[in-house]
Amino acid sequence: MNKFDAQEFSDRVLNLISTKFSLSKIKNNFTELMEAVFVLSEAEVTLHITDEELAQMDCKEGCSTCCKVNVSILDFEAIIISDFLLKTLTNSELETLKIKMKLLVRDIQSLDEDERIMSNKPCAFLNKKGGCSIYPVRPLLCRSVTSADKQACKDAMTMIALGEEISIPMHARQKQIMDVTFKAVAKSMENQGLSSKSMELTKSVLTHL
Ligand code: SF4
Repeated sequence: MNKFDAQEFSDRVLNLISTKFSLSKIKNNFTELMEAVFVLSEAEVTLHITDEELAQMDCKEGCSTCCKVNVSILDFEAIIISDFLLKTLTNSELETLKIKMKLLVRDIQSLDEDERIMSNKPCAFLNKKGGCSIYPVRPLLCRSVTSADKQACKDAMTMIALGEEISIPMHARQKQIMDVTFKAVAKSMENQGLSSKSMELTKSVLTHL
């Protein structure tokens, strides 16, 4: 397997953003910038995942066990998600989604991580088939999570209600790559004089709709 150099990869993300930032700013379009970041990070994951690890991956469309946790995103991520929704939904679909999002924000805003899981409130972007309706632009945090044992995910969610933790076998390199990407995007935003504060997914996307 290829060796992963976190510092070198972080520098590549920083360079990519700094090259694309001026153009994105002129066009007031950070979607292209984040698309390029997603392509870079996904390509890096492909370089560092073995066929054996791929075969062990238990995350499949329709399994949404982890889609009821708090997801924190950066403003650039909120922009690409809101752009995607504005481009792909009809006005009435968008209005229905916004109501769903507002209700979710109301219900979860005072909950900590464990309380959110115990509340069993699914992500507003989870569709009826248990798939992610914003999959092409899903947050870096969602991209970082992989499981080699879907039963362990279910058990972990149940055990949280009992105050206990269960470890879930996952592709650690993928998580590391997405974590490095997240930090590099935050750093780039800071370098450009923007706020690098992360915010809860639903609330953050709503501010752009
Ligand atoms: S954005 Fe998609 S992958 Fe992430 S929690 Fe929501 S439904 Fe799940």
